[in-house]
Amino acid sequence: MTGQLSGFTTRVKEATSERCLFQERRGREERLGIPVIQGHWERVIFNIVNFSKTKSLYRDGMAPMVKSTSRPKWQRLPPKNVYYYRCPDHRKNYVMSFAFCFDREEDIYQFAYCYPYTYTRFQHYLDSLQKRNMDYFFREQLGQSVQQRHLDLLTITSPDNLREGAEQKVVFITGRVHPGETPSSFVCQGIIDFLLSQHPIACALREHLVFKIAPMLNPDGVYLGNYRCSLMGFDLNRHWLDPSPWAHPTLHGVKQLIIQMYNDPKTSLEFYIDIHAHSTMMNGFMYGNIFEDEERFQRQAVFPKLLCQNAEDFSYSSTSFNRDAVKAGTGRRFLGGLLDHTSYCYTLEVSFYSYIIRGSTAAVPYTEEAYMKLGRNVARTFLDYYRLNPMVEKVTIPTPRLRKETPPYKRPLLRGPASSLPNSKGGKKSSVSHKDPSNSF
Ligand SMILES: [Zn+2]
Repeated sequence: MTGQLSGFTTRVKEATSERCLFQERRGREERLGIPVIQGHWERVIFNIVNFSKTKSLYRDGMAPMVKSTSRPKWQRLPPKNVYYYRCPDHRKNYVMSFAFCFDREEDIYQFAYCYPYTYTRFQHYLDSLQKRNMDYFFREQLGQSVQQRHLDLLTITSPDNLREGAEQKVVFITGRVHPGETPSSFVCQGIIDFLLSQHPIACALREHLVFKIAPMLNPDGVYLGNYRCSLMGFDLNRHWLDPSPWAHPTLHGVKQLIIQMYNDPKTSLEFYIDIHAHSTMMNGFMYGNIFEDEERFQRQAVFPKLLCQNAEDFSYSSTSFNRDAVKAGTGRRFLGGLLDHTSYCYTLEVSFYSYIIRGSTAAVPYTEEAYMKLGRNVARTFLDYYRLNPMVEKVTIPTPRLRKETPPYKRPLLRGPASSLPNSKGGKKSSVSHKDPSNSF
């Protein structure tokens, strides 16, 4: 636990001085025991301690999310009363403090770091897809986690591509190896929903390519509410070099499949994309590998450049190529070294908080829908990459309207202990303008 707030549930009437708020374990996201500084039931200051990173999106206007029984839609708290600062009482690690007004005694409130996307939700989603009986969608269990949860593998392609002896061009996509990175699942669902749609581009992509998608590589970590690790405390994205079948079974299963496909002369593994979320950067962007071969290096830049043209929230300037020693055990680095010059391996990152559209300076907070839209744009970019446009008569992407978020939660005043919190100097400072909450309660 590096101090990230995954999520917790609390009931107002249980909050008393020097006690932990009532915790509800529902087996979905992590619940944290938060000591309450001030016992008054209406106004509470939360201190989440032991953050290790100096840089944080909390300094760029990000705020925790909240929902309650009577207001079940997740909303970001107003950033005005969120503080991120270094604290000598916690081994000089950082503390994120926020103030919140509980306004309905009978409501149960939940707080989260970002929009939750649970293992249960994921399983229901896949069940609903299976019920549609599409002949171009296949779901199988590639393996099991340590606690015997499913490692699902989806195949999306025209049935013609699965005939005996058919040659396959494969795009392999994985997500949620880091379980706290919930935006990864929304992006992944955006890709899946688009590829399964009747959109002409989706039809052309299914004709031409085989999509293999393992959307949740760390189901135990997701279920338990871990931020980065598996059940046994491993960062699975550092174990690609030698995954153990008993300690890292999901990683082992996916790696075996990728190597098997790589060794199959009928299969051309063209892309591997691992989807993550980033806790300090804005926008979507990619990490790629560095190759000695200049031409290969240049070709690797093509996909992110095309994606940048299709997605307003994707930044090519934030995209970088590296071979840091610390990243040696990642899927992108390992597979980039294993696969030949015809394959491209990327990490796709998306901000936990917001994106800045080119030509503007205003940060637009991501919504669940905006994450899914990035996924649709990733899928659409394969059409440009393979120059499949002639297969599509009319290229139109439906663009659902983004609903504006208007947090109706009361804005509490910081008093007492909070007055000693740092102000702009060294503390959270937002250059982003946000609406103040309305007083709809
Ligand atoms: Zn990650």
